[in-house]
Amino acid sequence: MRTFVHRDQITKVVFGSGTRARIPEEADALGCRRVLVLSTPDQADRAAELRELLGVAAAGVFTGAAPHTPVEVTGQAVACARSVAADAVLSVGGGSTVGLGKAITARTRLPHLALPTTYAGSEMTPILGETEGHRKTTRRLAAVRPRTVVYDVELTHTLPAAVSAVSGINAMAHAVEALYAQDADPVAFLLAGESLDALARALPLVSRRPDDPEARADALYGAWLAGTCLGMVGMALHHKVCHVLGGTFGLPHAETHAAVLPHVVAHNAPVTGDAMARVARALPGNDPATALFDFAGRLGAPRALRDLGMPESGIDRAAGLVVQDGYWNPRPVERGAVTALLTRAWAGEAP
Ligand code: NAD
Repeated sequence: MRTFVHRDQITKVVFGSGTRARIPEEADALGCRRVLVLSTPDQADRAAELRELLGVAAAGVFTGAAPHTPVEVTGQAVACARSVAADAVLSVGGGSTVGLGKAITARTRLPHLALPTTYAGSEMTPILGETEGHRKTTRRLAAVRPRTVVYDVELTHTLPAAVSAVSGINAMAHAVEALYAQDADPVAFLLAGESLDALARALPLVSRRPDDPEARADALYGAWLAGTCLGMVGMALHHKVCHVLGGTFGLPHAETHAAVLPHVVAHNAPVTGDAMARVARALPGNDPATALFDFAGRLGAPRALRDLGMPESGIDRAAGLVVQDGYWNPRPVERGAVTALLTRAWAGEAP
């Protein structure tokens, strides 16, 4: 008999093309009159566009969002929000900018509207990752969930093909680990399977034609579902490994997910039959791990951690850190097995 706990979402989601035009009315619906727009320096033009769109409801722009949500950047952004008397923040960008919005909410309780432009999925989760010095910590805080998420497919057209591929595989990793989560949830299972179908279909098309609106819509739809799964259930070994590699060696987030996923799937496959059958439905092949490895290869995604800057001497250290905290995984995580899978991922070998 099934036993589960299902948590419902508290975020309003608007999905479509050109939907950023609805941002002023969505801010108004939350009672917000002074919105601070957030972005990375790279997306300052996009932030300026949203400021203009908000008109009198714009309080200002902060374009200093940075990877891994450094606390000093959050401090500057909070000071900026206070100096302009902001009553809400609007994050326009990928996981880095959405992360800054969440960090501001955690400190100020200001409501957060998100306009995501990658497939990372952070906007749908209560997870807040922050870095102080070289230490990255992660917390789950229901209060940091954005109140409103507006997905505008048009904003993803500028995401370069190579970034789209790795960001899309990052989303697939959320879905795969949701399929075998410790707190298995039948709704999350359904969403994860649908997400994998959409991303497996869309990412090869996006790679070939980055401005194909239907493929972009399909990919963003899959990414939304994957982010929803990430927010709904706990993750396992894959996310732990990527967290350790990102934090310890400063490896790029989405690329690391792309290189590691097939190897963790190979490790977990023997004990996750239902999950593997669902992955195989989305990505037919000899076995899900090889299918994911081949899929990443066809998209031109990096498959070797050494190409991302990880030193070979770091394999043993990373394996030690992965097993240190007793992270939950469907299959026991022994140091030798982690070293072996990291060695293959480092070299870019098949799983
Ligand atoms: P990112 O936000 O750092 O974006 C990567 C780069 O792409 C940035 O320079 C950005 O300006 C640019 N960019 C973004 N969208 C673009 C677009 N449409 N067109 C052109 N350029 C664009 O990368 P990411 O992979 O989206 O996010 C990674 C971060 O998100 C990591 O810090 C990760 O830990 C975090 N994350 C958090 C969660 C969570 O639930 N807390 C989930 C997933 C990721």
